[in-house]
Amino acid sequence: LDPRLNDDLAAWDAAHFLHPTTHIANHAKGVVAGRIVTGGEGCTIVDRDGNRFLDGFAALYCVNAGYGRPEIADAIAKQAHELAFFHSFGGHGNEPAIRLAKMVMDRAPAHMSRVFFGLSGSDANETNVKLAWHYHILRGEPQRRKIISRWRAYHGSGIVSGSMTGLPGYHARMGLPLPGFLHTHTAHHLRRPQDDMDEAAYLDWLIAELEQMIETEGPDTIAAFAGEPAMGTGGIIPPPPGYWARVQEVLDRHGILLIADEVVTGFGRTGSMFGSDHFGLRPDFITVAKGLTSAYAPLSGSIISKRVMDVLLTGSEEHGLLAHGFTYSAHPVCAAAGIATLDLVDSQGLVANAGHVGTYFKEALHEALGGHPNVAEIRGEGLMLAVEFMADPGKREWFAPMTVVPKITAAMLARGVIARPLPEGNILGFAPPLCLTTAEADRMVATLTDAVTEVLG
Ligand code: PLP
Repeated sequence: LDPRLNDDLAAWDAAHFLHPTTHIANHAKGVVAGRIVTGGEGCTIVDRDGNRFLDGFAALYCVNAGYGRPEIADAIAKQAHELAFFHSFGGHGNEPAIRLAKMVMDRAPAHMSRVFFGLSGSDANETNVKLAWHYHILRGEPQRRKIISRWRAYHGSGIVSGSMTGLPGYHARMGLPLPGFLHTHTAHHLRRPQDDMDEAAYLDWLIAELEQMIETEGPDTIAAFAGEPAMGTGGIIPPPPGYWARVQEVLDRHGILLIADEVVTGFGRTGSMFGSDHFGLRPDFITVAKGLTSAYAPLSGSIISKRVMDVLLTGSEEHGLLAHGFTYSAHPVCAAAGIATLDLVDSQGLVANAGHVGTYFKEALHEALGGHPNVAEIRGEGLMLAVEFMADPGKREWFAPMTVVPKITAAMLARGVIARPLPEGNILGFAPPLCLTTAEADRMVATLTDAVTEVLG
């Protein structure tokens, strides 16, 4: 590239481009420059200066099939030439969207029925909330409006999905969460409210807290509970053993629907096709996005269970049109990307690879860092792994949020490896493309170990 163009690009970027989740003043001043990425292959990205980085987070845990896959790029180009777009309102359709709907439902848990397509994880969660409300309205319980989710959950950045999100940084100064969006405790033993609670006592406490909230609010005012089968952005936190079965029992008893947000866990990341299968959830709705197209094109899905669908179908006989849809719902070019992605997930054995390489990766992390005095926990499932750092894990003394891990990830970046500091804590996350090799996992672990030594000794 012409260095002049490089300079212009940086200047135009600072002057014209409002970046998502960015310190905008620092960016405008050039303090936070970011990388301008120009290419990638497998688990590696290349920036415009020719620097190569091993991407331990698949961008935002979304490029699951890896970078530079001609199969997906060609499918997108072919579809754009054939038919770039026609809408799917009023029962219209396009071939790739219909084929992809079938492929999604062939892979989804057996009790699920249909998929509604949107564009992002945020909008898919909002669709699921509206469909949960619609379900209760049709069944004669229109007062069931409240949504319960969990502190530290990430469900998106919209007004409703941002209200479901349980990270205070996403609520600050916005008046969020909206009234009627409630949060229970993060289901993580490290974050138990009392030091002396063992795992069994903590699980009892979590379930009692949920029951108490439902009783206090009134069971017949609550529409749905939303949760990530394994929490992602809030810290890559797998559920405590037995947690989902007990939550599900409480919800069923009170007629509350379950939304499983599988934007991260869907399509293989845990080593199973869906986190709901992996952790034994039986959701009424599943939210998917990211891995559905490996982020080659924006596409999300709200997957609906048979029991909810039966009510929606009967209700439609009585009430007619369901007025909910986005212009780009079921976009044919995005659907073509989805078909090519799911074909690759199958042909390359990416779900099994996430399981095998994930197990290898986690063991290597334990071996390298398990004995470090500031490592409180190494955890995760498949290829979503985290290392949490504390000042003194024995006494549960935390470092001030975002003080240590951002330095570690910066030291890793200087060595050519990307890991992600997860918000509002000191948690380092790995969620690489599902095509990761053991050699690449080794390099990530070695680089992390060097960075930890540099920052913490
Ligand atoms: N749900 C979960 C679990 C997520 O991790 C994310 C994004 O990271 C979202 C929803 C929101 O998806 P999007 O950014 O596509 O709106």
